[in-house]
Amino acid sequence: MGFAAKTIVVMSGKGGVGKSTVAVNLAVWLKGRGKRAGLLDVDLHGPSIPKMLGLEGLTVNGDGKKLFPVDSGGLKVMSVGFLLPDPDSPVIWRGPMKGKVIKQFLNDVDWGGLDYLVIDCPPGTGDEPLCVCQELGASACALIVTTPQDVATLDVRKSIGFCNKLNIPVLGVVENMSGFVCPKCGELVNIFKSGGGEKMSAQMNTRFLGRIPVDPRFAESGDSGVPIVEGARDSLSAKAFNGIFDALV
Ligand code: ADP
Repeated sequence: MGFAAKTIVVMSGKGGVGKSTVAVNLAVWLKGRGKRAGLLDVDLHGPSIPKMLGLEGLTVNGDGKKLFPVDSGGLKVMSVGFLLPDPDSPVIWRGPMKGKVIKQFLNDVDWGGLDYLVIDCPPGTGDEPLCVCQELGASACALIVTTPQDVATLDVRKSIGFCNKLNIPVLGVVENMSGFVCPKCGELVNIFKSGGGEKMSAQMNTRFLGRIPVDPRFAESGDSGVPIVEGARDSLSAKAFNGIFDALV
């Protein structure tokens, strides 16, 4: 795999925990740090990266041999969302077809030489993360996202087990939706449980990277296509991301 010096696969055993949010913010943060960064969305059934980056409706071009990723202010982005006739079109593919498309995304896209490729996986330990990890082999590292509740960590532990089985190094665990930033006073209130991700990290012998609070700005940023690390730099959430990504990279 010669397209990126480092590949970070963002995974979780659970859906809706903020994988895509973390992947988008990480990729944009890397770009902001002057790195040549790419973002590959292999959530084939629910690609949300184009929307989260304000790239909906764009398509990719090719020259018969290579596909050219969409350029988002210097960040190279590839998603099945760019290949669908409209955002409501479902992708109805079985495993072998998914494997073929993921291989093409990795091998037939002109990434142009990257320092980092961030890959956003769908939840679980199924075809997509398996194909990505098998294709990348030793060049892949994983970043695990969870929410604090035991019910979530129960599933997320499986992702760590999956990486261990495939010999993919786990860079660390992010606990998302941990505490709440009051929209009126901006203070962090621990209205939900906190600490489940840290506990799981200790039990599974993985590094705990930090917490991201529940913050209403995420809904705005997801819908407006401007990730929080770029659009709300002074927020607690952006600062939390900075700390986590600094530790990661
Ligand atoms: P996943 O990729 O794990 O399915 P997403 O990143 O798509 O999860 O996030 C699911 C929803 O939760 C999105 O609408 C996103 O904006 C929102 N979200 C993610 N993290 C937070 C957070 N820390 N605070 C508030 N909303 C969040």
